[in-house]
Amino acid sequence: MSNEIRVRFAPSPTGYLHVGSLRTALYNYLYAKKTGGKFILRIEDTDQSRYVDGAVENLISTLKTMGLNYDEGPIINGDFGPYYQSERTEIYQRYVDELIEKGKAYRCFCTEKDLVRMRQERKTRGLDTRYNGQCLSLGKQEINDNLKKGKKYVIRLKIPKEGEITFYDIVREKVTFPWDMVDDQILIKSDGFPTYHLANVIDDHLMQISHVIRGEEWLSSVPKHLFLYEAFGWKPPKMCHLPLLLNADKSKLSKRQGDVAVEDFLKKGYLPETLLNFVALLGWHTPGNEELFTLQELEKAFSLKRINKSGSVFDLEKLNWMNGHYLRELDLKVIGQYAKKYFQQAGYKIENEQHYNELVEIARKRITTLEEVTEFAKPFFSKLVFTKENIEILSSTTSQTLFEYWIDKMEENQEMSETLINKLLKQSAQELGIKGKNLYPPLRLALYGSEHGPELPTIMDILGKEKVITRLGDCLK
Ligand code: GLU
Repeated sequence: MSNEIRVRFAPSPTGYLHVGSLRTALYNYLYAKKTGGKFILRIEDTDQSRYVDGAVENLISTLKTMGLNYDEGPIINGDFGPYYQSERTEIYQRYVDELIEKGKAYRCFCTEKDLVRMRQERKTRGLDTRYNGQCLSLGKQEINDNLKKGKKYVIRLKIPKEGEITFYDIVREKVTFPWDMVDDQILIKSDGFPTYHLANVIDDHLMQISHVIRGEEWLSSVPKHLFLYEAFGWKPPKMCHLPLLLNADKSKLSKRQGDVAVEDFLKKGYLPETLLNFVALLGWHTPGNEELFTLQELEKAFSLKRINKSGSVFDLEKLNWMNGHYLRELDLKVIGQYAKKYFQQAGYKIENEQHYNELVEIARKRITTLEEVTEFAKPFFSKLVFTKENIEILSSTTSQTLFEYWIDKMEENQEMSETLINKLLKQSAQELGIKGKNLYPPLRLALYGSEHGPELPTIMDILGKEKVITRLGDCLK
C-alpha cells in the first residue's frame, strides 16, 4: 500500500444529506486538501430494502452545491471503482468464502422464528439479545445436509468470546472493548447481500483508504472491523471518530427537534457558505477559536488533532447569526444569483437587473435567511393591501394634499432622480408645511405598503416613475 492519504465519504443514500453527514464529508474533504491526498465518494447501497429513488442523485448534487468536489466516485470514476457497493457484490462473496475457510466466519441456519425465541430466552435470563452462537457447533455433515436441502442461511463473524480489544482512535485515543460486548455480526444476509460491516471493510482495503473519518456512532463497530482486517491479514486504516451532534437539550440531534437535512436548510435560504462554516465548527476549532472561515481558509486551517472529544450542540441562533453575516458580506452578485430562485418561486419577474440588485442589496441587510427576500420584495411586485389604520393615515387631509402635490411634480418632471426626490421632500416641508411623521410614513405607506422600510428614494427608484404615480393615485379618495 502506498503512503498516500486517501479518505472517503461513504453514505448510505437515505434520500437526504444529514447535517452530521455533511460534517463528515467536509472533514474528509478538508483532510484530503490539507494533506494533498484524495477524497473519495463511495455509495454504500447494499441494503436494498432501504432503496430510495433519486437519493444518490440528490446526494451528489447537494455535495456539488456545497463545493465538496470528490476526486474519485460515481460519474467521474477512478482507478478503484466501481464506487457503488451494489455493483461490487461479487467481490464480497469471494472474500467471505475465504473467511469461512479460515474459520473466521460461519454459516448460521437459524430462522427468524428461532432468533425471536432465542432473544426472548436470553432476555428472561437477564442477558443481552445478541446471537447465542448456536450454529457454531454444527458439524460438517449437518452443514452439508442443510446446504443440500437448500436451507437459507446467513454468514456470521466468529468473534472471540473472551478477552478484549484495544485500539487507537485519533480523537478518542486509546479505546478498549471487551469481546463479550461484540456480536457475531452477520456479514452476508440470507438474500446474499453483504451487510455494511463486510462491504465497508473490504472496500476500505481495496480502495486503499488510509484514514476512516466518520461519526462516533460507528465507534462500537471498530472491533468487528479490526477483527475482519486481522482475519484477512490486512493493515487497517487509521480511525478517527467525530463527536456526536446534539440538540440544545444535549440529546442526540434528531429530526423531531427541527431540520437536520442539508437540503431543508438550503431551501430555507441558508447559504452553502454558511452551512460549511457552521458544520466545520461542530467538533473542531482553531487555537484562537476563530469563527468565520471560507472553504479555502478551512482547507488551510483544518487538522484532525483539533477535533473535540465532547459532543457539539447544534446552535440555531449561531447558524442564523452566521447566515446574516454571509448575506451581508458575500459579493452582491453571488447573493443576487442565489436569490433568483426565490423570486422565480414567488412568481416575481425581474425586469430590470439594476433595480433587482438594488432590492437585494437593501434586503440582505435586513433578512436572516434568503427565503425572506421575497417577503421583503413583495410590496414591489404585488398590489398593496391596507389595513383600516393604514387607510386612516392615507386619507387624512395632509396625506391627500401630499399625494396630489407629488403626482403633479412627478408629471411635470421628465426624470425621476434621487436629486428630484430629495428636492421634493424639502419642498413638501417648505411649500406645504408637511414634514416629519406626516411626510415620510404616509408616502412610504402609499408606495411600499408599510410606514417603515427602505429609504424613499430607493423605493421610488425600484418602483419607477409610472408605478410611483399610479400608487399615489390609487391612494387618492
Ligand atoms: N454507510 C455508512 C453511513 O451511512 C458509512 C459509515 C462509515 O463511514 O464507515 O454512515
